[in-house]
Amino acid sequence: MKPLIFAGNWKMHLGPAGARGFLDRFLPHYRPAGDREVWFFAPAVSAATVAAAVTGVSGVRVGIQNVHWEPKGAFTGETSVPMAVEAGATAALVGHSERRHVFGETDREAGLKVQAVLAGGLVPLLCVGETLAEREGGRTLDVVRRQLGVLRGIPAADLAQVGIAYEPVWAIGTGRNATPEDAAQVHAAIRAQLAELGGPADAMSILYGGSVKPENAAALVGEAGIDGLLVGGASLDPESWRAIVGGARN
Ligand code: PEP
Repeated sequence: MKPLIFAGNWKMHLGPAGARGFLDRFLPHYRPAGDREVWFFAPAVSAATVAAAVTGVSGVRVGIQNVHWEPKGAFTGETSVPMAVEAGATAALVGHSERRHVFGETDREAGLKVQAVLAGGLVPLLCVGETLAEREGGRTLDVVRRQLGVLRGIPAADLAQVGIAYEPVWAIGTGRNATPEDAAQVHAAIRAQLAELGGPADAMSILYGGSVKPENAAALVGEAGIDGLLVGGASLDPESWRAIVGGARN
């Protein structure tokens, strides 16, 4: 059975000292379990600190929140995949809604990043999701299909490495979240499209994200087809994070 994935997106929080402090409070209580993994999408400057702190701790992965698709060059402020690898990252977020909507990242760029991440041997976690206007206009599935289109042409063996995070934009950081049933419906549509794209859809992990808290985490992962959670705000507090990671599975 696929492990449930609990992924924390620390966004622009927790520099190296803060990350160390968080892990000092989280790791002593962490009990590895074969049915789940814990991923930390740390800021680039903290990735090496987190990787060092979790060395030898099973079921924990360090990820980076964004990469450039070029391996090196004159791209001030960017982080390349080889640099992320050097820092100890084994996963990368691609196309997070804040990258798309705050920084204007396009589907084309998300596609280039997925390919670079795969080529570098990291796991891409491709984020997709609709805005409130798109949802109210009945366009959720069209938007998600368009965003998943960047996976077209990727060989099945590589698609097997790709994770998806369904994150409705209106639910991120707003305190509003999709009901577990609504989320599960979109997850089913995503899985169907992954199969159309030639991926081993049942083996691929599709996470839900958007205002996940200890109070709603278990119900979300209790839905068939929700293979884990991508969590922003509540992943910053070691106690909340412990409660989410330790919750029930379906
Ligand atoms: C996120 O950053 O991906 C996210 C889902 O944030 P939050 O949990 O704060 O809504």
